[in-house]
Amino acid sequence: MKDCLLNYNLEEIKEIVSNLGEKSFRAGQIYKALHLGLDFSEMTELSKTFRETLQDNYVAQSVKIIKSLKSVDGTEKFLFALCDGNVIECVLMKYKYGYTICVSTQVGCRMGCAFCASGLNGLIRNLEPAEILGEVIAVNRYLGGGLGDKRKIINIVLMGSGEPLDNYDNTVKFLHLVSEQNGINISQRNISLSTSGIVPKMYKLADENVSINLTVSLHSPFDEEREKIMPVAKTYKISEILDACANYFKKTGRRYIFEYVLIKGNNDTMRHANALISKLKGRPCHVNLIRLNEVKENDLKSATDKEAYRFLGLLEKGGLSATLRRRMGEDIDGACGQLRQRYIEETAIKGEN
Ligand code: SAH
Ligand code: SF4
Repeated sequence: MKDCLLNYNLEEIKEIVSNLGEKSFRAGQIYKALHLGLDFSEMTELSKTFRETLQDNYVAQSVKIIKSLKSVDGTEKFLFALCDGNVIECVLMKYKYGYTICVSTQVGCRMGCAFCASGLNGLIRNLEPAEILGEVIAVNRYLGGGLGDKRKIINIVLMGSGEPLDNYDNTVKFLHLVSEQNGINISQRNISLSTSGIVPKMYKLADENVSINLTVSLHSPFDEEREKIMPVAKTYKISEILDACANYFKKTGRRYIFEYVLIKGNNDTMRHANALISKLKGRPCHVNLIRLNEVKENDLKSATDKEAYRFLGLLEKGGLSATLRRRMGEDIDGACGQLRQRYIEETAIKGEN
C-alpha cells in the first residue's frame, strides 16, 4: 500500500518534497491542498511532471466517501472505503453553531463491549493518522468547507468505531495534524476523545501537551457489573480510572466527562445512581447519559425516556452535573459500528449470490 501524504506535517512534507528534487515552498501548497481534500490531479499549481512523481510515490487522500445517509433529524452518516478495501464510518451532527463530526480510530475494536456493534468482529486494524484526518477532510470538503475560518466542521469527537487509546501514537499524531495552523486547524479545545478506560494511556495523554477533552465510558459504578458489559474493566478498576482522571485535570486543568449508556434493568436503578453520586460527587466532572442504541446482535434494551429522565433527576439531586444526550440518527443506524456492520452483512450476502 502506498504511503499517504496526509500522514505528515508541514515540516515532514518539506523534507519529502526536497527529497523528490523540488523547491521546499511547494510543500506549503501541497499541505493546503491535502487539507482541502484534493487529489494530486487537482493540484494544478504544481507542474504535471511533479504531480505524476507524487502520484507514483504517494496517495493524497486515503479515504473516499462511498455512501452517505441522512437522518430525518439532520444527522448524516458516511461510509468510507480505505485503500486496502476496508470500510469505516463516521457521523456528522449539525448544531446551531456548526458541525460536529464523530470519527472512527480503528477498523473494528478489540474491547468487545457487550452493547457495541464496533467490536463484533474484533479489531481488524488501526487507522493511520491520515485515515482519521481523512474522515474530517473528506466531510469538510463534502460540506463545501475550506481551511481555517472557512472550515465547516467546528468540533470533533473521537467516538466512532475503535478505541483511540489502543491506537495511541496514530491518534496523537492525528490530534496534532488536525489542529495545525496551516491545515484545517480545528482547535484542540473543540476535540473530545472517548476511551473505555485504558488507564496507563490516560496518564500518557495527560503529558502529551494536547489540550483536548477527555471522556471516559463508565457505564457502571460497580467493577463487577462493569466487567460483565465491558471486558476491559477486568484490567482497569474504576478507582484507577478516577485517579487517572484526577491526574488529567491536575495536568491540563480540563474537566472530564463520563459517558453512561443507560441499559434497561442493568445499570439504570436507584442503587446505580446512588453509587455514581458517591463516587463522582465533588469531582470536576460531568456525566453524559445516553440511551442505548439497540443493536440486533444482542438483546440489551434501552432505558425508556421516562426511566432515563428519572435517572438524570437522581444524579442532579445528588449534586452531579449531568445531561441526557438527545437521540440522534436512530433511523440511520446511529450507534458506533452499526452502519459498517450492516454494510458488511449486505455485501457478504450479495457476495454469496
Ligand atoms: N472506544 C471508545 C470510543 C468509541 S465508542 C469508548 O468506548 O469510549 C463511543 C461511545 O459510544 C462510548 O461511550 C460507547 O460506550 C458508546 N456506545 C457504544 N455502543 C453503543 C450503543 N449501542 N448505544 C449507545 N452508545 C453506544
Ligand atoms: Fe470498542 Fe468503544 Fe465499542 Fe467498547 S464501546 S467495543 S471500546 S468502540
